[in-house]
Amino acid sequence: MSANGFFDEGELVAVLTTQPLDRTLDYKAPEGGCFLGAFVEVPLGPRKVLGVVWGQGQGGFDLAKARSVIRVLEVAPMREETRVFLGRVADYTLTPMPAMLRLATRAPGLGDPQSMRKVYRLGSTEPDRMTDARTRVLEVLRDYGGLAFTLKELAEQAGVTSSVVKGLVKQGAVREEDSPRDLPYPHLDPDLPGKDLTEDQAKAVARLQAGQRTGDYGTTLLKGVTGSGKTEVYLEAVAEALRKGRQALVLLPEIALTAEFLTRVEARFGARPAEWHSGATMTERRRVWRMVGQGAAQLVVGARSALFLPFRDLGLVVVDEEHDTSYKQEDGVHYSARDMAVLRASICGARVVLASATPSLESWANAEAGKYERLDLTARFGAAVLPEMKPIDMRAEQMQAGTWISPSLRQAVRQRIERGEQSLLFINRRGYAPVTLCRACGEQIACNHCDARMVEHRFLKRLMCHQCGETKPMPETCPSCGVEGKLAPVGPGIERLAEEAEATFPEAKIAMLSSDLFGSARALKAKIEEIAEGDADIIIGTQLVAKGHNFPKLTLVGVIDADLSLHGADLRAAERTFQLMRQVAGRAGRADKPGQALLQTFQPEHPVIRAILSGDEEGFWTAEAAGRQAAGVPPYGRMAGIVLSGPEVGPVFDIGNAMARNDAPLRDVGAQVFGPAPAPIARIRGRHRVRLLVKAPKGAPIQDAIARWIAPLKLKGDIRLAVDIDPQSFY
Ligand code: ADP
Ligand code: ZN
Repeated sequence: MSANGFFDEGELVAVLTTQPLDRTLDYKAPEGGCFLGAFVEVPLGPRKVLGVVWGQGQGGFDLAKARSVIRVLEVAPMREETRVFLGRVADYTLTPMPAMLRLATRAPGLGDPQSMRKVYRLGSTEPDRMTDARTRVLEVLRDYGGLAFTLKELAEQAGVTSSVVKGLVKQGAVREEDSPRDLPYPHLDPDLPGKDLTEDQAKAVARLQAGQRTGDYGTTLLKGVTGSGKTEVYLEAVAEALRKGRQALVLLPEIALTAEFLTRVEARFGARPAEWHSGATMTERRRVWRMVGQGAAQLVVGARSALFLPFRDLGLVVVDEEHDTSYKQEDGVHYSARDMAVLRASICGARVVLASATPSLESWANAEAGKYERLDLTARFGAAVLPEMKPIDMRAEQMQAGTWISPSLRQAVRQRIERGEQSLLFINRRGYAPVTLCRACGEQIACNHCDARMVEHRFLKRLMCHQCGETKPMPETCPSCGVEGKLAPVGPGIERLAEEAEATFPEAKIAMLSSDLFGSARALKAKIEEIAEGDADIIIGTQLVAKGHNFPKLTLVGVIDADLSLHGADLRAAERTFQLMRQVAGRAGRADKPGQALLQTFQPEHPVIRAILSGDEEGFWTAEAAGRQAAGVPPYGRMAGIVLSGPEVGPVFDIGNAMARNDAPLRDVGAQVFGPAPAPIARIRGRHRVRLLVKAPKGAPIQDAIARWIAPLKLKGDIRLAVDIDPQSFY
């Protein structure tokens, strides 16, 4: 290899492939040579597979037998810092490198040459005859200046059929051209005027930008109540990164957030950024992946896996709603996008902004310890004030069986309807009813494959398992005793609550927002926008509404069951309840009208409920931190979860027991193992699940210890083992 990382034709290179092998493979560099980091196609047995040139070949075998790299792909080579990053994530999460490479190449057709497609622009002649449809097409093209559309986009924008566009092409009024599919993203201009910032906001921006000017790594916790302008503030940090010619990444927890967000980015920078999420088409994903690598995408707005895109010069990562649990991936590679964002930034000299109204205890503690800078925005922007929070003591309410909206809450909603304002009724349960019970024999309908009850979804007319997604029609007779007509729903889900609201407020327009009621992310986005414009008196929503949407007319939030998540076995139950309740309450009173949040609870004196109501956040965090410190649990101790699973419970437990007995590698680093025990959900998709929990003092090298602990295991048959470092959930 030459000093600049080039391998001449025939030189031996080590290639990391996406195939599940435990080492790199040696190949000869192809004709024309290749660079370190090059994406290549290599032969593996009879197949061709994707790989990356990872270093010098190991040799040690008959060179004549070495096969050649088939070809070098037409994409930017993987940079050294990306290779280092993938290696460090692999070490941290105990993930094999091929799986890391798969995560970093999740775009289709990376090897394909640039293909062409037809695009449409304004032509030079007038059509012979104008129709309304034709006028609309030409207006769209004029409105968007020189922008090219695909046929589908243009027809959709203008609300016409594609034959109208084709007709205009024949006349020369619209021009049809061939254009490469993967175009650079339009330029974002950081120097367009931003909003006039408040004093608090301007101070926060100045601090962030001062940090950025150092060119060094640094993380800032940006804490501010909902509506305080955190987004405005971090967009100025994005602007600063762009001014320095560096790339920026904004991670968001939920695709539903992007509709409103993208409009704000466009307003600030004059064009839309690259988007990376599961709803994006394959073509879009490939374009993002390539352009990010070439530096032709200045800003990416994306879901957690965007962190593994091949950035050329990443200068800033924003993790918005940093406390959100969806940042933790819990299948395949178990990683926390928030934590790995900090890792990536520390490798490439980038800044991280963690934004939240209710930060995770981890980030709060890192700020307390001085590892992160902390910036607070304390006031809401403009006239908006934080909602008043009050409990509704359910022990004192007159409730009819099978209803969940208390008389006090009913009255508050009615007031809003009279004033033309919106109310949100929040319940964190999808479906109609969580339990279907046979009143004859007491049977609760359960999933055949999981240790879970089936949830009735009346909208879909089916029962659904929320663990595995299995559905079945609602039976007429009890599957256990065979008696007919005795199956009854127990407890409320969002659909049942909507039914009650319709009966209670017949004059009101009611909208339901739950992830499973909409066929597509696009339909959901459209619905959210409609509601934000005021097209509903009452919104019935699940967790989905807690996240960042602006509903200007919303002045009342009613939490149907504030106690619901208080009693999880999870060490973060209190933290989660606190965050969720404050986030939901934060939806009320965002514009000029004050808001109110009413929490229905059977235990208004519970310390967590009291902390939520009093708004004493620092007090809550301090108490919670002390509790965790005393228990030696995260963030003041380390944990790892091990899940063993298999079709038969016996052999799975045998392995778990053997692991618990042979725990010397763990004891060496001061770690302890608990279990094996049946997992809280003891069966999923027909597989029995057994958990072990590793607990260690902070700073103990548990990855090494766990690697040594599990290395001698021989997993026979269909038994699988998954390691989850820093587990967030314990199902
Ligand atoms: P957060 O991200 O903290 O929830 P946002 O940045 O979304 O807050 O701000 C809440 C609302 O207030 C948004 O509609 C935003 O455009 C508006 N806003 C915030 N700061 C300003 C400002 N300085 N000038 C004008 N509008 C602002
Ligand atoms: Zn199931």
